[in-house]
Amino acid sequence: MTIHCRVGCGACCIAPSIRQALPGMPAGKPAGIACVNLDDAFSCPLFGRPERPDLCAQFKPELSVCGDSREHAMQLIELLEIATEA
Ligand code: SF4
Ligand code: SF4
Repeated sequence: MTIHCRVGCGACCIAPSIRQALPGMPAGKPAGIACVNLDDAFSCPLFGRPERPDLCAQFKPELSVCGDSREHAMQLIELLEIATEA
């Protein structure tokens, strides 16, 4: 189920590992480490700009990933990380 992105969340820019280059992080990022582009309000300043990686632009908020709170999203994404590592 597609939902609207929660203001001040940023869980999907912190919890998952990203194995492709991000601006300022050429080797991608490990799980649990915030993307260097994430700002203090947990927003992406690259939103809508050409520098924003396709991977990020293609990701759509989804209830099964975003949950009902930031903490819930962090837990759900951590579980997905474990499931995809196995
Ligand atoms: S986890 Fe979902 S709600 Fe949170 S920032 Fe990412 S897309 Fe938005
Ligand atoms: S580039 Fe922006 S959307 Fe992509 S992980 Fe970093 S902060 Fe998030």
